[in-house]
Amino acid sequence: MKDRIRTDLLDLMQVPGLSGHEDRVRRAIRDRLGEVGVKADTDRLGNLVAHFPGDGPSVMLFTHMDQLGFIVRRIEADGLIRLERLGGVPERALAAQEVLICVGEGRDVPGVIANKSHHATAPDEKYRVTPYSEVFVDTGLASAEAVEATGIQIGSPVVYAPHARALADDRIMGTSVDDRAGCAVLLEMARLLNARTSGPPVHLAFSVQEEFNLRGALPLAQKLRPDIAIQLDLMLATDTPDMGARGDMFLGGGPGMSLYSFHGRGTLNGVIPHPAMVHLFDDTARAQGIPLQRSAQVGVLTDLSYVQLVGDGVAAVDMGFPMRYSHSAREVCDLNDLVSLTQLLDAALARIGPDFSLDRDDYT
Ligand SMILES: [Zn+2]
Repeated sequence: MKDRIRTDLLDLMQVPGLSGHEDRVRRAIRDRLGEVGVKADTDRLGNLVAHFPGDGPSVMLFTHMDQLGFIVRRIEADGLIRLERLGGVPERALAAQEVLICVGEGRDVPGVIANKSHHATAPDEKYRVTPYSEVFVDTGLASAEAVEATGIQIGSPVVYAPHARALADDRIMGTSVDDRAGCAVLLEMARLLNARTSGPPVHLAFSVQEEFNLRGALPLAQKLRPDIAIQLDLMLATDTPDMGARGDMFLGGGPGMSLYSFHGRGTLNGVIPHPAMVHLFDDTARAQGIPLQRSAQVGVLTDLSYVQLVGDGVAAVDMGFPMRYSHSAREVCDLNDLVSLTQLLDAALARIGPDFSLDRDDYT
């Protein structure tokens, strides 16, 4: 299982899929699903979903396949390119990053985000972060005409240059571990669900535009009207010196469950998980001997926040894997957490039978 997840993850990290431009990632995932005999449908926004029939409350198990990045805002006469941000891009981590301007498979244009020459950096500039308005990309092309001849236009999608590398001790480093790691886990879940003989109905979905507006999965949830929604994404690892006070989440320490997420800056949303889901995952982890880490974070948010509000309300929980250096071009996760997350999900789904209660009074 670990080798399959490693291969899927390293491969998917190499496929650019900016929010709203997920088509290449969707095709790559659909091809892999097809290889194991799982048929998947696409809706108008580009969400990809596979259905596994069963008995009991229906489950939407989903993860986002898009990634954050940029959009070309302006092409200067000298060929330098100005960017608009798409998603929570950290300005602090942009200088000297390689990017890829996506104009079509085989025709993408590499570039680099400029970092002012050190020899010309004044003392008061040394600790200053360059704001987006001043950021520019150098593709090597020296005029607007040359840039446009490659197919680059205002509105072209731009991502961190895809990069995927195995580090020591089963750790994976590179671009869009958030959330291709979730996609790799769901691909493994598709293999398991395809081979099972009993269990609840499961809609396995790869959602779009999570990094953009968190609402790409909404039409899918409105159509499926699931009883239960389980979302997979990163959990903030707090085991580096800069993160210690934020929590107790260790890379390699096992999967994570979010007990509280909230985002107040304009979004005003979050998830307080349904008690049936918290009990389910606590009990399953204990029975399986899988260490389950807990997360409670303000400033973290997923598309589950909107999915939970559909229909009569959906019993929801955010599950995930610890990850370091979120939204930078070099995120890090641990394969063993992805394996144990898969095992936990598989065992938890098997416990959702026709009598599984979503009545909150049964859990007080
Ligand atoms: Zn994510």
